[in-house]
Amino acid sequence: MPAVASPAHPKIGFSIDDLRVERWSHDRDYFIAAAKSMGATVNVQSADASESRQNAQIENLISRGMDVIVIVPFNGNVLTNAVNEAKQAGIKVIAYDRLILGTDIDAYVSFDNVRVGEMQAQGVVNAAPQGNYLLLGGAPTDNNAKLFRQGQMNVLKPLVDKGQIKIVSAQWVPEWSPTNALSITENALTANKNNISGVVASNDGLAGGAIQALQAQGLAGKTAVCGQDADLAGVQRIIAGTQTMTVYKPLKLIASTAAKVAVQLAKGETPTYTSKMNNGAKDVNTILLTPIALTKANVDQVVKDGYYTQAQIDAK
Ligand code: BGC
Repeated sequence: MPAVASPAHPKIGFSIDDLRVERWSHDRDYFIAAAKSMGATVNVQSADASESRQNAQIENLISRGMDVIVIVPFNGNVLTNAVNEAKQAGIKVIAYDRLILGTDIDAYVSFDNVRVGEMQAQGVVNAAPQGNYLLLGGAPTDNNAKLFRQGQMNVLKPLVDKGQIKIVSAQWVPEWSPTNALSITENALTANKNNISGVVASNDGLAGGAIQALQAQGLAGKTAVCGQDADLAGVQRIIAGTQTMTVYKPLKLIASTAAKVAVQLAKGETPTYTSKMNNGAKDVNTILLTPIALTKANVDQVVKDGYYTQAQIDAK
């Protein structure tokens, strides 16, 4: 039976790939707070990087009669059946941060992820304009990982062509695993006799793994490293000088925007979108928010924004 639109208290399911990665618990908390303030209730599930667990959790949310299901996909390619089932039950489906490919979703709310990649590469190039580069890409199952790489290459390709930069290794790191990033960086350092000027790490978790490997060779603070998410440890490393920059994506904004879209869709209203993004099946109604590059010079923005307290940053 299709769900009846317009509930005063919409029921929202929030299926998150992996709450073990720091940022997502902020997304969860901001999302719940925003949804609550609009009279909705939220049921959160974390798949902990398991394709089958995420599918089962979505099925469960469908059977519990959600009005809307908001999904951060672990694997953007394998949710076709689950999404179809939800749609058949009259449930709206929103892709959160990562696009869900090849299926009829209702909306996509994210940041401009190509721009994220450009900011990352530019941050490393500013600090290390030439030399050997290591690229630590995200999970191959995550559509964003490809968009970050695309943005990074927009900046790096012209410099590679000029012979200014040499990409000695470009990897994808399954499940965005920092441990994996550590060993890839160790191997790249060994293979290049420690001659690596820049590490383009696609998030702060990967940056943390890379910096640990650099530290062991006395190179932390010498090799430029970028990241993403303004993780607490990432911000602390920027202040300490071992990480060059991070890309801060105000999570309160994406969470409250997505919560608003969810509530509007549940009530049969039409949200205001800013663009469309093709997911292989359709042009999906999309809202893309603007990321912010943070270096030592402006990293205090995370405190000004109330994302962290100064005490959290000072604590080691
Ligand atoms: C997100 C990043 C996050 C990464 C790992 C990406 O899809 O955009 O913010 O660091 O996934 O969870």
